[in-house]
Amino acid sequence: MAQTLSRGFTIWFTGLSGAGKSTLAQHLYEELANHRDLAVEVWDGDVVRTHLSKGLGFSKEDRDTNIRRIGFVCAKLTQYGVINIAAAISPYREVRDEVRRMVGPDRFVEVHVNVPLNVAIERDVKGLYQKALAGEITNFTGVSDPYESPMNPEVIVHTADETVEESVAKIIAYCETAGLLPPADYSPEE
Ligand code: ADP
Repeated sequence: MAQTLSRGFTIWFTGLSGAGKSTLAQHLYEELANHRDLAVEVWDGDVVRTHLSKGLGFSKEDRDTNIRRIGFVCAKLTQYGVINIAAAISPYREVRDEVRRMVGPDRFVEVHVNVPLNVAIERDVKGLYQKALAGEITNFTGVSDPYESPMNPEVIVHTADETVEESVAKIIAYCETAGLLPPADYSPEE
């Protein structure tokens, strides 16, 4: 049975499509859940939109509703000692700050997954940029919809210049230094 912490926290990724949010979320899960045996839940934007937020579109209002729902569950589970990892574009600053307040500012780690737009376009992980640039998809963040970078994120990872392992190490180091995550050799039985 995975261990819950006495106080949980939420790692909130924000960044363009293709920036690396899902990849980093999966690697963090692997480290925290599989290697450290902690209770971790990943809230991936694409998955959430097929369940919790099914039917919502990409207007500002629907995007904000989607983010509030993810924030709501993260806030609840954070209270019960779970580590939540949210990986959604979350392009609007105001609703991200609202979620920060819901979770509790001292339990919230905003990670700006920063990548130049041209690199995200080159990666085109899901083939969506090509469609957005051709006008086949509207309201596409970075192309035809805004992205508001965080002003004071706890962590910034530059995924065009860092390996996945380097980005993950940066996030873990922050969480340990901030006292959110026990150091790797920590054992609750000791
Ligand atoms: P998002 O979830 O933000 O839409 P994905 O995680 O699906 O993005 O895709 C990001 C792509 O970038 C993956 O192919 C991943 O292997 C690559 N990548 C390269 N360097 C990094 C890094 N440091 N962190 C995360 N992803 C990286």
